[in-house]
Amino acid sequence: MNSCAICEKQFTHKREVIYSNDRWMLVAVESRTALGYLHLETKRHIEHWHDLNEAEQHDFFHIVKVVEIALKEVIGSERLYMTSMNELVRHLHFHLIPRLKGSAKRGLPFISEVIGGAPSVSLKEMDWVKGLKTHFVQV
Ligand SMILES: [Zn+2]
Repeated sequence: MNSCAICEKQFTHKREVIYSNDRWMLVAVESRTALGYLHLETKRHIEHWHDLNEAEQHDFFHIVKVVEIALKEVIGSERLYMTSMNELVRHLHFHLIPRLKGSAKRGLPFISEVIGGAPSVSLKEMDWVKGLKTHFVQV
């Protein structure tokens, strides 16, 4: 049995999946500090950028592009922050964190607050989740 938390979640946890194909899974993350916070995870258990194959690399940039456009339209984000550390969970994944237009919270302090924050918001019935899913219907 794989002891990776992300691999386990992909197969056993009910999650709010925005988009999924053979190579990537995009999921909404419950966050009290960042509306529209997403995780983008490879389906394969890989740990490094250089492990990405050509198809995964191609999909990655396409998915991020659609996410940025969708978040701007659905929640009015102005910037899309992205970080990938893979330290605690060594499965290649990315934190996609929108910064809303006019928000005073920005930059590294905001990213740190979002990633380190405890979840307290239920994603059920949240309009931004539904809105984002509509952007991936044609992908
Ligand atoms: Zn894994």
